[in-house]
Amino acid sequence: MEFKFKDKERARDLVQLINRKVPDRPVKIVHVCGTHEVTITENGLRSLLPDRIDIREGPGCPVCVTPTADLDAALQLARDGAIVTAFGDMMNVPGTDKSLKELKSEGADVRLVYSVSEAIKIAESTDREVVFLSVGFETTTPMTAAVLANDPPENFSILPSNKLIPPAMKSLLELPDNDIDGFIAPGHVSTIIGVEPYEPLVKNYGAPIVIGGFEPLDILYALALIVKQIAAGKPEAENGYERGVDYGGNRKSQDLIKNVFKVTDSRWRGIGNIPESGLTLNSNYENRNARQRFDIDPEAGQESPPNCLCPQVITARATPEECDLFRETCTPKSPYGPCMVGEEAMCNIWYRYGGRPKL
Ligand code: SF4
Repeated sequence: MEFKFKDKERARDLVQLINRKVPDRPVKIVHVCGTHEVTITENGLRSLLPDRIDIREGPGCPVCVTPTADLDAALQLARDGAIVTAFGDMMNVPGTDKSLKELKSEGADVRLVYSVSEAIKIAESTDREVVFLSVGFETTTPMTAAVLANDPPENFSILPSNKLIPPAMKSLLELPDNDIDGFIAPGHVSTIIGVEPYEPLVKNYGAPIVIGGFEPLDILYALALIVKQIAAGKPEAENGYERGVDYGGNRKSQDLIKNVFKVTDSRWRGIGNIPESGLTLNSNYENRNARQRFDIDPEAGQESPPNCLCPQVITARATPEECDLFRETCTPKSPYGPCMVGEEAMCNIWYRYGGRPKL
């Protein structure tokens, strides 16, 4: 059957199927992807579904989960005279005392880049040390690995803060007060890692995991597969995005990552330390690690300001509406907490699309 992205009939059929299959009790489905949240809110998908289906965004925004200590390290490097390069959203995330953008306004050489390749070009044009604040999930890491494997200039290093999605999903499933009935797994991360890494999570925790694409119909299709699994009592890791994801993922990208990085424990803002959930450079590339090159290791700082519910939002235990500061004190122009900074973060997305819970 031809798959049309804007097929109203197909959307209606999927919504009817979801209505028929969803159990007669509250059902909480979590996705881990800012793009999924944008598709859901922009198209009002929650309003098509029964009230008992509660869809939340988990830790799907790399900006929000980057810990203060990593930002403090970047701030320290810039203060010490390095050129620090970072993606746009990272410029606004508060470190312990300020953001990279604020430090830049005080004269530090902090530059916004759209890719790691841009940071390399800066390094090629100067004798000064250039550091790239390397954040993101499995999707962005292969590009950084490729650049490092391709003999970049000597004055180039990275501050690794790369993270892995399946261990974060596992940490949510282990929270005692988080009744997750199923996950929509992120399509772009899954393009790299495939279906396999989700299988142990389903086996050990019993919640369905369905990989979803980014069109409204993709999301409805993934939801339909999840509620079908719940109704049948047969949870599995299922690929609902076959046009984008192969079972084994992208082996070339996986090899690139393995060649340059190694898995390590990692701190996630709002969650804390998650075992084996991050990537740092392996022994072949240690000299490219700015932490070691410049011997910096700031202590963990305060991860979210007082009364900010970001830790609960990131772990799918609260919505932005439940935060007293949402919309009034905390806005994208004047973010109080990290979940309002990134354009892939739930508070930011709900603010941009009106902040109504049924969006
Ligand atoms: Fe934190 Fe602002 Fe979100 Fe409230 S609205 S949880 S203060 S980021």
